[in-house]
Amino acid sequence: MFKARIFTLYPELFPGPFNEGLFGKALKEKIWELEKVNIRDYATDKHKTVDDTPYGGGSGMLMRPDIISRAIEDNIKKSEKIIYLSPRGKLFNHEIAKDLSNQKVINLLCGHFEGIDERVLIKKNIQEISIGDFVLSGGETAAYAILDAILRYIPGILGNKNSTEDESFENGLLEYPQFTKPQIWEEMTVPEVLLSGDHAKIKDWRLSQSEAITRDRRPDLWQKYKKN
Ligand code: SAH
Repeated sequence: MFKARIFTLYPELFPGPFNEGLFGKALKEKIWELEKVNIRDYATDKHKTVDDTPYGGGSGMLMRPDIISRAIEDNIKKSEKIIYLSPRGKLFNHEIAKDLSNQKVINLLCGHFEGIDERVLIKKNIQEISIGDFVLSGGETAAYAILDAILRYIPGILGNKNSTEDESFENGLLEYPQFTKPQIWEEMTVPEVLLSGDHAKIKDWRLSQSEAITRDRRPDLWQKYKKN
């Protein structure tokens, strides 16, 4: 069983979106498990303080290494991967998601304030992952995003086993346009080929649409695709 363990100051934010839909169903069926660690439980003063001012000055506060370290030692086995959601991290993508879905347990450490004391990241061999070139106020929303992407690859969670196979990025391309009922909506009709029942033709059309959209919107992906 796949387990996600979330280290957070706001455990009430979880399971959050993962209580719903297929993820929620799979959670109830114990196809995966979510464990929450409240970092604040590892503070020792009576105010349960987890942060302090940065050495060298600067605005904002930092999460203390000793508190995070205790939270880790109390919950994690040595061989487990620990990921700190951080704008300095390796940029997350579907390949990393797929890779992480092969772990038995992943630990997601959500930062707050200006982040975390560097020493605990080094000492505990923590890997940093970013979800994009922007700054969030806390790691929880980033953890939602990466956990969602990982869970899609856990067998038995998505209804249809093919449903990850046709999606954007799977073949190095963005997805083709899709249409459902009504067939005519606001005077716009569905592309003729999709009504033809000719599966080979439909496949060709979708591929050429995927290629055109990728070339137009994501020259970086297009260059890679053409090389392969
Ligand atoms: N001072 C830090 C930003 C701290 S933002 C810096 O400049 O790098 C506060 C917390 O939000 C971080 O500890 C991290 O857990 C989370 N966070 C912010 N942006 C993120 C991003 N792009 N990806 C993943 N996590 C992010």
